[in-house]
Amino acid sequence: MLEGLREKVLDANLELVRQGLVLYTFGNASGIDRASGLVVIKPSGVPYEAMKVLDLVITDLDGRVVEGSLRPSSDLATHLEIYKAFPAVGGVAHTHSRAATAWAQAAKEIPCFGTTHADYFHGPVPVTPGLAPEEVHGDYERETGRVIVRRFADLDPMGVPAALVSGHAPFCWGKTPAQAAYVSTVLEAVARMAIETLAISPDARGLPQYILDKHYFRKHGPGATYGQTLEPR
Ligand SMILES: [Zn+2]
Repeated sequence: MLEGLREKVLDANLELVRQGLVLYTFGNASGIDRASGLVVIKPSGVPYEAMKVLDLVITDLDGRVVEGSLRPSSDLATHLEIYKAFPAVGGVAHTHSRAATAWAQAAKEIPCFGTTHADYFHGPVPVTPGLAPEEVHGDYERETGRVIVRRFADLDPMGVPAALVSGHAPFCWGKTPAQAAYVSTVLEAVARMAIETLAISPDARGLPQYILDKHYFRKHGPGATYGQTLEPR
């Protein structure tokens, strides 16, 4: 079932490893088939180097396993909340990549200091509020997804395709699993540049809005003129 999507999700998971964004089995990527509403996700705790296409788990949007003998990633419920709230999303990736996680642990949004950031994120990368004790003791992974969705109440999730979960790490998304992995990679680079910018100049200012807009819309939207196509499909 969903062989093509399985291949894409496996490759997105392996891309996180290739880009040095995950340690051991931390991190997970998934993809959704919108026609059937089924989600393909990494299994829980399987080493990446041993992971096969058939190890991936297929669930419905309520988290019920439809196909697969392994347990799905423990972060499945977070991915599902993102898919349910953001209909344009086709892939989600979660890592504990070092620089982006440092911002999440500091509970600070990543300001847009330069055009590298503006090319991919139309504004700061937001950080969520912390979770309350009852949210952590309850359905923790689902509440993690819900706090991301609440944080995007006034934001366009496709304009800023990432969130930092306070005290935890980033979740990134895109139209495809490959794009979600790509955004994770770009986010890590941008997070590191922002730390280095502040190390050089602690009072660095964000990029003016007109330059941010210029760079973002050069790559995205109907007037895009940059390159041939948008990133991996
Ligand atoms: Zn995590």
